[in-house]
Amino acid sequence: MFLDYNATTPLDSRVVERMSDYWSRSFGNPSSRDHLYGWDAADAVEEARERVANLINARDSEIVFTSSATESINCILKGILKQRALNEPDAFVIWSSEHEAVLEVCHRLVISGDAKVIQFNADARGQVDLDELSRSLTGVHLVALMAANNETGSIYPVGEVARVVHAAGALLFSDLTQAAGKIPIDVRADRIDLAAFSAHKMYGPKGVGALFIRGGEPKIELEPLIVGGGQERGLRGGTLNVPGIVGFGEACRIAQLEMKDEAERVGKLRDKLEEALLAELPDIWINGDRDNRLYNTSNIGFAGVDARTLIRDMHDIAVSTRSACSSGSQGPSHVLKAMGLTDEQAYSCVRFSLGRFTTEEEIDYTIQKVIASVTKLRNR
Ligand code: PLP
Repeated sequence: MFLDYNATTPLDSRVVERMSDYWSRSFGNPSSRDHLYGWDAADAVEEARERVANLINARDSEIVFTSSATESINCILKGILKQRALNEPDAFVIWSSEHEAVLEVCHRLVISGDAKVIQFNADARGQVDLDELSRSLTGVHLVALMAANNETGSIYPVGEVARVVHAAGALLFSDLTQAAGKIPIDVRADRIDLAAFSAHKMYGPKGVGALFIRGGEPKIELEPLIVGGGQERGLRGGTLNVPGIVGFGEACRIAQLEMKDEAERVGKLRDKLEEALLAELPDIWINGDRDNRLYNTSNIGFAGVDARTLIRDMHDIAVSTRSACSSGSQGPSHVLKAMGLTDEQAYSCVRFSLGRFTTEEEIDYTIQKVIASVTKLRNR
């Protein structure tokens, strides 16, 4: 049974259906301007672009298709360096609870001498300190704050941060990967300048991402990472992944239509899981901001239990100790550590993430299984 929807999601059958034509019948290259095959593919890409843009209240012209949120993040953080004053490394502000893609790119930019990075920790609930931020913005060019955390589900005050960031003349980049498709996102209202997100977190295909770059003034210029045929207004060369992009568009359309109902249904299941475990098991705790979290995510600490042993014991339930992108690393979760948990506490935490296809029967089964496994492991 799959309770790891923050790692990835199965394709929605409506997305599969929508993509199916674009593997064979409508296989044209959208850059072929001289015939029907190319026009057909280009029309499909532009329709998808509109749907992707609508999901976050952007304009079509502000969306660039990439291969993943990771690629979009790389494009933004590396590409923005073009705007820096000559001979001055760019200053970025980030939080240590950001996704590995942001942390690793920043780490490398620091090593290469291209950027100075100020890195804050989140507070115990996984939230950000706006006063600390506003005191630190002198000389800062870009602030990166994710909209929602992949490990705890904590939702961050992106709109409030944007006000502080813009008052200091800096740009705001938000990683929307976990939030887009789950909660309403409005890049205009929140005044986000740059953003990244991905189809496979919202029942779309793997290998397709989007980069949002705000139009209008002051103009934002990004140096492209991949150059070649001038696709995507020169910001991302390479023939477009038409079936993937069509699937992304359909996934966004469905998410926008069904987000409210899904939040209510899945939120009830998540709450049922937490309430039952809190009632039955002593010495467990919930990580993240309980009042301000993604409705599908529950990150639970089980004192005295090693999370990997627990997950192995519950072998038919797919949950995780941390983000899939960091599963190669052996250390404790950097997100939980940034919130002040000890190594031992962080090693006791399991992320349950529910989604569109989670049923009440699955949650009932999971409750029984977690209670039995935790009790058994504690009595060993
Ligand atoms: N940002 C966040 C918050 C994520 O959760 C993930 C994936 O887990 C990514 C970025 C990377 O997304 P992608 O797999 O599309 O590269």
